[in-house]
Amino acid sequence: MVIDSIKNGIVIDHIKAGRGMTLLSYLEFDNEHDTVAIIMNASSARRGKKDIIKIENVKGTAVDMDVVGLIDPGATVNIIEDEVIKAKIRPTLPKRVENVIKCRNPRCVTASERGIRHEFVLNDAEKQQYRCVYCDEMVSMQEE
Ligand SMILES: [Zn+2]
Repeated sequence: MVIDSIKNGIVIDHIKAGRGMTLLSYLEFDNEHDTVAIIMNASSARRGKKDIIKIENVKGTAVDMDVVGLIDPGATVNIIEDEVIKAKIRPTLPKRVENVIKCRNPRCVTASERGIRHEFVLNDAEKQQYRCVYCDEMVSMQEE
């Protein structure tokens, strides 16, 4: 499959196969205006199969690197300007995330009180496991 390269925008490459849709659901795009393409199960020398996300005509700041790192720290974010890769960013697993993952514990304060920020801190990098700062509920991003 040949996919046209984009002139301006962002290409998130080397996403672990199967994780592209999850990543896309966590990245907040203005779906009515942004042109977003997802390619699933593309061949990859590095990872066997991979997913790719392309977002046209957006600035590099449109993608939250912490969110990319949270979902797949092995992904690469390419910022394209005038058909040239201006920057290649390798996100890292964020130490702390706010308002990205939601706590599932029904007894957690975030479930009962509105306006509280959902805050998670990295608990185990190898398992991509995060802990709710309020109730210690664990979330593994590998299973998300
Ligand atoms: Zn909680």
